Amino acid sequence: MITTHNLGFPRIGAQRELKHALEAYWRGEIDASTLESNGRRLRECHWRLQRDAGIDWIPVGDFSWYDQVLDMSALLGVVPARFGWQGGSVERDLYFRMARGRAPTGEPAKACEMTKWFDTNYHYIVPEFTRDQKFVLSSETLFEQVREAHELGFKVKPVILGPLSYLWLGKTREADFDKLDLLDELLPAYGEILRRLENMGVTWVQIDEPILVLDLPASYRSAFETCYNRLQGGKLKRLLATYFGALEDNLSLACQLPVDGLHIDAVRAPEQVDQVATWLPDYKVLSVGLVDGRNIWRTDLDAALERLVPLAERREQLWLAPSCSLLHVPVDLDEETGLDPEIKHWLAFAKQKLDEVNLLRQGLEQADDPTVQMALAASREAVAARRASPRIHRPEVHQRCQSIEENMYQRAHPYAERAPLQRQWLQLPLYPTTTIGSFPQTPEIRRLRREYKQGRVNEQEYVAQIRAEIARTVQRQHELGLDVLVHGEAERNDMVEYFGEQLEGFAFTGNGWVQSYGSRCVKPPIIYGDVSRPRPMTVDWICYAQSLTDKPMKGMLTGPVTLLNWSFVRDDQPRAQTCEQIALALRDEVQDLEGAGIKVIQIDEAALREGLPLRQAQWQHYLQWAVRAFRLCASGVVDDTQIHTHMCYSEFNDIIEAIAAMDADVITIETSRSQMELLDVFERFQYPNEIGPGVYDIHSPNVPSVDDMVQLMRKAAQHIPAERLWVNPDCGLKTRAWPEVEQALHNMVVAARRLREESGRQSAA
Ligand code: GLN
Ligand code: ZN
Repeated sequence: MITTHNLGFPRIGAQRELKHALEAYWRGEIDASTLESNGRRLRECHWRLQRDAGIDWIPVGDFSWYDQVLDMSALLGVVPARFGWQGGSVERDLYFRMARGRAPTGEPAKACEMTKWFDTNYHYIVPEFTRDQKFVLSSETLFEQVREAHELGFKVKPVILGPLSYLWLGKTREADFDKLDLLDELLPAYGEILRRLENMGVTWVQIDEPILVLDLPASYRSAFETCYNRLQGGKLKRLLATYFGALEDNLSLACQLPVDGLHIDAVRAPEQVDQVATWLPDYKVLSVGLVDGRNIWRTDLDAALERLVPLAERREQLWLAPSCSLLHVPVDLDEETGLDPEIKHWLAFAKQKLDEVNLLRQGLEQADDPTVQMALAASREAVAARRASPRIHRPEVHQRCQSIEENMYQRAHPYAERAPLQRQWLQLPLYPTTTIGSFPQTPEIRRLRREYKQGRVNEQEYVAQIRAEIARTVQRQHELGLDVLVHGEAERNDMVEYFGEQLEGFAFTGNGWVQSYGSRCVKPPIIYGDVSRPRPMTVDWICYAQSLTDKPMKGMLTGPVTLLNWSFVRDDQPRAQTCEQIALALRDEVQDLEGAGIKVIQIDEAALREGLPLRQAQWQHYLQWAVRAFRLCASGVVDDTQIHTHMCYSEFNDIIEAIAAMDADVITIETSRSQMELLDVFERFQYPNEIGPGVYDIHSPNVPSVDDMVQLMRKAAQHIPAERLWVNPDCGLKTRAWPEVEQALHNMVVAARRLREESGRQSAA
């Protein structure tokens, strides 16, 4: 007997119903009970959908008002002191205040930190622990939802985040204290959760311990044994779920823990299936995730069945599921009415993936059934059609990749020789000022783009209006006295979509939303085939902007690694190869900009760091091809063309060598929130080129003072010679409003002037 189950379903809703309800509630437009009934409707709809797809064990507890890690904090009563919580139940508005700093009721307070969930683009709310942290069950939500599902007659398996992953993902501000020491305090609370579930008649619980695919310190590894030994007892069965990678050195540990089953990711780590089948005792359930929960392609069911048939013979209890929670894929492909039918045929979203899980089971149990055979044949045909499609493989792209020569990865001369040539024509003052690219996107600009897309504004009118906006933006930069100008990105809705839409090999969904955090969703493009650039993408806009000023105008591109990391990427060739194709397409754009007289060009790599593999042993390989892709894109220009890059994070202590190897002439980075802490890395590593440590935190509406920015730059000048420093915000300004931006940039320019005077005095003295 084969069992099917699901690890988690997207909670946001096929039409982003949850987003709309949440935002209406936050704005005070609907009350708590309306919000609650919206949630109930969504849960029921998702449970029904999963059952109808043939899933035996349906998850409960995967639905969340904001985030599943925050749910765990509420359940365990982990609420930071600044929220003034007195114990008792963690009410909904307190929960929202923790997530967002404010809610319809209660005093605002600083929101909890948010960070990326493993290597996904989903962000969770970071638990904050104190040395004397208590864990007391403080929310009924999970239990209520179990009851709700039971009353509706669904056979459910509650999902909770395991105690060790929960501790690992949290943080503490107190020094000299190891959060792992809290385990003793934490386990009784987990014991109580399990007991309560058991008393409600629950048979199976899914305990997620995704940290088992990470490089774990010995302390955590041994804590796993103690922890699960202590969580034994009772009749409730425990399925330990791992995903996003291979267990590797934690494999035998995971197999031997006293639990009743183990789920493994067989998409990211197919090689571990046989090993786990060997190590995992026979009486335990082996759950195999062969349907990719992280990507949108149909599964090759024949290949999957080939793996499963011997397993099904060998294991008494085999379960089938997607590789991980389906949170990371859009809900329903059937909603995509505008998608190219040929491409659509190759895809599977959450709903379709569950059909695949069920079909795998049927393929094992009823292989002779004609309807099963027909369904398998249809899937086989779709997979084969994708493989053979002339739209995927384009010989001219392959040829170009084949003919890349080593010198294409290299600028003609090293930075030290390029810099004086660039200085000569740029004639910039010390501490030159610039911005990161975008300027505020006003409602009028958004409306114009929308109407143009819908065909309600014609091209001529559109171009005229965008040009007018560019002219206004250039004018304002003049008035502010900035040194290197930008055109402002008014024509771009999104830094990935804008390029993807103009490149061959990318497709876009109409409704393929994936939750990024809270009510926010993204709609990643789909890279389905060989990538090329039919025509220039940015040259006209940038040249127009340059025609309005004698100051240098900075061309603005999204880099190859970022385009890759923020898309659903084809799985029929290595990511490195797809990235190389994108890099070649962008290289042409860089050269066209240069040919048109644009000699300062920024190539954003906002997402370079988030592509880092979960295991450190694989970092080097990734960084190597990622850096090469950037260099391939950036190195086709002459020495006096200045290449900039931008990254919106500050933690690059551990990858600074790779960043330097990108060999951009100038890099701008985020530092303002960390008070230049990141510059500590330059004690150990001499960054060779120019750098603009962001001094204006654009994530906040606050206007930074001249003094603050001067202070930050003085700090920076202790690590990096002033001749190599730039003054700039820490990211693009598109989410901000003009009045605050003008004030902040004014202060920034004043700060730069003051720094110049200071250093003038120093050199005179
Ligand atoms: N050039 C982009 C902008 O200014 C960069 C955005 C980003 O780094 N996320 O908007
Ligand atoms: Zn940024």
